[in-house]
Amino acid sequence: MSPVARAEIVVDLAAIRHNVRTLRELTGVPSMTVVKADGYGHGMLEVARAARAAGSEWLGVATIDEALALRSAGDRGPILCWLTVPGEDWAAAIDAGIDVTAYGVAELDEIAATGRPARVQLKVDTGLSRGGAALADWPDVVRRAQQGEADGSWRITGLWSHFAASDEPDHPANDAQQRAFEQALELAADLTPEVRHLANSAAGILRPESRFDLVRFGLASYGLDPAPGRTPDLGLVPAMTARATLAMTKQIHAGDGVSYGHTWIADTDTTVGLVPVGYGDGIPRHASNAAHVLVDGKQRAMRGRVCMDQFVVDLDGDTPEAGSDVVLFGPGTHGEPTAQDWAEAAGTISYEIVTRIGGRPTRRYTDQ
Ligand SMILES: *Cc1c(COP(=O)(O)O)cnc(C)c1O
Repeated sequence: MSPVARAEIVVDLAAIRHNVRTLRELTGVPSMTVVKADGYGHGMLEVARAARAAGSEWLGVATIDEALALRSAGDRGPILCWLTVPGEDWAAAIDAGIDVTAYGVAELDEIAATGRPARVQLKVDTGLSRGGAALADWPDVVRRAQQGEADGSWRITGLWSHFAASDEPDHPANDAQQRAFEQALELAADLTPEVRHLANSAAGILRPESRFDLVRFGLASYGLDPAPGRTPDLGLVPAMTARATLAMTKQIHAGDGVSYGHTWIADTDTTVGLVPVGYGDGIPRHASNAAHVLVDGKQRAMRGRVCMDQFVVDLDGDTPEAGSDVVLFGPGTHGEPTAQDWAEAAGTISYEIVTRIGGRPTRRYTDQ
């Protein structure tokens, strides 16, 4: 028998495949599964394999290192990365056949300096004011890109941009960005990219006109809702379950304070349980006194502050055995909270809950 896990993250690869397929069928255009940040905490390599098996044409990551790790693990398909700093190892990415993203002429110059024929996508900033070429600089970037195609430095394989408020379908930025993207495409009409893409999960689902040739699906691939309360039910299945083993239970009395600072004081006698995970395991401290976990068939309220390695839950007089299963969050099908519930308790988004959990807990995969 394997030893009991203090805490573990269980990832359902069948759920990932189901989600990737569902999203691909919904849009009717090729999909890029975004697996940056260790697959949003689910494990980049395992998620990548599941996504390819489910027909994802592209994989997307932020950094060159992430893209190279996919290649080292044997992935041979199209991969795009999009976040670099001056002096990056462009040569390694180009040699590995990875599509790199240029935000400006300076990056194109660095790519040309490698002397290697690259696959380059150009990103235009249509209103997020983050990465990408400013619209004012776009004509220069396009001109340099054309020059490099003519002299054999690269092929421009994609033109793309990213929304600021796709989780708010009525936000005026969406229409404005889409118009700006279409204008940027017109200005680049002499380029013949393989793919033009704008949409992430929320836009891919909620804004069909933004799908172009490819949708970059991150969060929805993991079965989480990119626009809570606004997304139609697509039958996506959350792939991550975070669980722990109950370390101990005890009786406390009315008036007893719980955890650092005694931010919660029992108003009646009750029983409490010790859950052996804390912010050192990616449990948000902002969830103190707010999140719930499933123990012994019931949702139990967290009491007091999340500590580095542990937190306390109210067992309401019940006395489940030490060693009982504690489900922090999961798909929600067995009465457990979801990552979205934790996000609301901690004042954040489910992206951050799943991406930050980990560290000491081990990850285990299921597939049925
Ligand atoms: C992370 C990321 C995505 C995926 O976004 P989701 O909202 O998770 O679908 C898409 N495009 C870019 C540029 C990203 O950085």
